[in-house]
Amino acid sequence: MLTDTDNTKANAYNDFHLQYIAGEWQSGQDDSVNTNTNPYNGDTLVKIQQATEAQLNEAYQAASAAQKEWAQQTPATRAGVLYKVVEILDQRQDEIVDWLIKESGSTRVKAMVEFAATRGITLEAATFPSRVHGEIRPSNTPGKENFVYREPIGVVAVISPWNFPLHLTQRSIAPALALGNAVVLKPASDTPVTGGLLLAKVFEEAGLPKGLLNVVVGSGKEIGDAIVEHKTPSFVSFTGSTSVGKRIGELANGGDYIKQVALELGGNSPFVVLKDADIEQAVKAAAFGKFLHQGQICIAINRIIVEDEIYDDFVERFLAHVKTLNVGDPSKQDTAVGPIINKKQVESLKEKIANAQQEGAKMILSGEIKGQVVPPHIFTEVTREMDLSRNEVFGPLVGIIRAKDEDDALSIANDSMFGLSSAVFTKDMAKGIRFARGIRAGMTHINDISVNDESNLPFGGEKNSGIGRFNGEWVLEEFTRTHWISMQHEPREYPF
Ligand code: NAD
Repeated sequence: MLTDTDNTKANAYNDFHLQYIAGEWQSGQDDSVNTNTNPYNGDTLVKIQQATEAQLNEAYQAASAAQKEWAQQTPATRAGVLYKVVEILDQRQDEIVDWLIKESGSTRVKAMVEFAATRGITLEAATFPSRVHGEIRPSNTPGKENFVYREPIGVVAVISPWNFPLHLTQRSIAPALALGNAVVLKPASDTPVTGGLLLAKVFEEAGLPKGLLNVVVGSGKEIGDAIVEHKTPSFVSFTGSTSVGKRIGELANGGDYIKQVALELGGNSPFVVLKDADIEQAVKAAAFGKFLHQGQICIAINRIIVEDEIYDDFVERFLAHVKTLNVGDPSKQDTAVGPIINKKQVESLKEKIANAQQEGAKMILSGEIKGQVVPPHIFTEVTREMDLSRNEVFGPLVGIIRAKDEDDALSIANDSMFGLSSAVFTKDMAKGIRFARGIRAGMTHINDISVNDESNLPFGGEKNSGIGRFNGEWVLEEFTRTHWISMQHEPREYPF
């Protein structure tokens, strides 16, 4: 039997080699093993025997059975579990932050940002049971009364990524459970603990009834398609890459059972600095918005676009600032840039560096790649046609594009198949709003970075960045179904 190498602290959660299915911690039955490693030093954290399709079925059956009773619980009961989750998160903050650092290569700053976001969405979700409401609408038919009910969807499938594993899982499962649904979750293979098993421990400790939350760790080959195609879930909440998301969308609607989907996919955020911007502030913002979590964030700055007049000044100051960032061990308090999640991603970044040079970009900052730590790389004289501009980098590399003027900057910003987040720096507020409204994206931040997420504001994108919105009343609608019920109070006259 596989066992954890972790966790020696008193009262710390343990036994992450087991999976949470049907309210029991059980061993996976598949032959394959997920070896969970620390991306900074390669230590093995835990080995998890993966789940079979039969275990996935068991999870769906348990979820379906438990959901009916859960939906009947009072709003106070459901909210109570979420408030208890917040309490436990607070008590176990150090333990959780420690896991985020060692499993996902988060720097301490990033782990704290992620912890706060996770806590925030849990608190927000705790208000959903009492905020959800129906409507009474007028009718053109004499004697008819119309009611619009908002009901739980039933069972929700959640598939989450490795970059902000705790938060991006919790932002689906907390609202789903708060609104009376049950969940079957598949965390990313690089982060099975922070992306799922750890949250299952917290919800279990908070008293969530058995069967409502299932965490199934399995290979894409064994359960990847099955989790989406299964007849039980009526909703699939996917966060991840655009290529996998497109396939999930097809699978969810290509088989015998049509399902609703929320697809939160890749980004290519422009960060625009107009000539009247506070350059010093823009430089600091660009460094944080680009290099937080080594640039492995869907809303990270992907393209820096600077107006011609201030281009050279911006580049000089940005280079000087980025050179001061500490690179290396993510557990150290002052590390700004830690390791890349896995070797495959490191290889893809090496390719991007080579491509950029081949395409004629000028590399003004580089450094030796040690293990999975890739230091910041900065390229200037980048054009909108280059690979660095067209595709999501997902790493600590950035290209700076020169724009002729404001119109050119807007045209470059919009020249992308993605439309998730974006940012613009200007001292002129009217210009800022005008520019922001011209950007085709789900989110634009004026005088701030593209990396913003607030639990009460709509998070999501358009174009190849996906469909659906998280947070606040937007996610409240996503995780419920609308049911029109009418009552004919007086006999109606039919034409025949
Ligand atoms: P990914 O698409 O490789 O994986 C996401 C999840 O899908 C993982 O759990 C993975 O195991 C699973 N998966 C992979 N293939 C599957 C298949 N065939 N069937 C079912 N599940 C499958 O993405 P990633 O590398 O984990 O995350 C990085 C990507 O996610 C980036 O493109 C990033 O922009 C995007 N992302 C988007 C958001 C957002 O809110 N829009 C947030 C974070 C990350």
